[in-house]
Amino acid sequence: MAKRDYYDVLGVDRSASEAEIKSAFRKKAKEYHPDLNKAPDAAEKFKEVQEAYDVLSNESKRKTYDQFGHAAFDQTTGSGFGGNYQGGFNSSSFDFGDIDLGDIFSNMFGQGFGFGGRKSNRPSKGKDILYRVNIDLEDAIFGGEKEIKIEMYDKCPDCNGKGGDNPRTCPECHGSGRVTRNQNTMFGTIQTSTTCEECGGSGKSFEHKCSSCKGSGNVWTKKTISVNVPKGVDTGTRVRIKGKGEPGRNGGENGDIYVEFNVVEHEIYKRDGNDLYMEVPITITDAVLGAEKDIEIPGSIISLTIPEGSQNLDKLRVKGKGVPYMDSNKAGDLYIVLNVVVPTKLNRRQKELFKELSETDLDGDGIIKRFLKMFK
Ligand SMILES: [Zn+2]
Ligand SMILES: [Zn+2]
Repeated sequence: MAKRDYYDVLGVDRSASEAEIKSAFRKKAKEYHPDLNKAPDAAEKFKEVQEAYDVLSNESKRKTYDQFGHAAFDQTTGSGFGGNYQGGFNSSSFDFGDIDLGDIFSNMFGQGFGFGGRKSNRPSKGKDILYRVNIDLEDAIFGGEKEIKIEMYDKCPDCNGKGGDNPRTCPECHGSGRVTRNQNTMFGTIQTSTTCEECGGSGKSFEHKCSSCKGSGNVWTKKTISVNVPKGVDTGTRVRIKGKGEPGRNGGENGDIYVEFNVVEHEIYKRDGNDLYMEVPITITDAVLGAEKDIEIPGSIISLTIPEGSQNLDKLRVKGKGVPYMDSNKAGDLYIVLNVVVPTKLNRRQKELFKELSETDLDGDGIIKRFLKMFK
């Protein structure tokens, strides 16, 4: 999704004064604050407003934004800023103005992002996790509970996710989350700033850091999670388990787990959408004379009527015995495909009976005679 222009987000002119930006931010923040606004997209809008204000309220960030747009603050692509920035840099008219060179250069040299790289202390949602699981066709038809084993970051049990005791401002970076160093480059001595190793960029550390999670509050764990498989799922269907993903940061909500199903092919039943196909071998006499057969289908046994004169590969439809539709009470159909087996191991008596039969006219319909006539 394309990012909205920060001036548009706050609803101000590009020439807006500091005071105008501040008052516009207050108005918008109040409008979208998740505590006051219960619309589903309020939190997202609120975040957008905060982000826009973060940039436009800071003189140097605003200047950079005016010049390079969102690319200057884009952390996701990484290449965006570099590409745009390079153009500006090569032109001799480029004015560094009061842009923090440390931030700019640390970007150029790929040491993380200056403005945005500082980890925010705002509440943020934990990561979502996608987990793919194989299920049998029967599970897909009848649904039910299934246990899955998942490996993920979860709240550290030893510190209950806090990271340690007696939180304090990180002594290494004094709470900024970044450490600045002087570096000699072809441009002369410039400052580079990197994420603080002591606090991982949060700006907070602990007097007694939890040794299990090293202060992060999260540990890599194996969990067993129960997932409800809905009736009718197919390969690719995803189910969301809300709040079971990675822990949120700074009091933010947990991420979600998405379970994606892969329905394993069945030996007997072949699936086509919501219909099922199964091949049933029958004897030549059952095909000729017709018969009643008990056939096992998913979940039950049915009495199947094979009509007199059935042909090889005839399909018999068993209505509503296919795979249920996920969004209704209906189900697809089950098709039984007849496979007329020609016997190859006959005893003497059976051979005699076939011989006797062969001396009668079995081509009552004339199908074979008509075929032979085509060559005369
Ligand atoms: Zn630090
Ligand atoms: Zn811990």
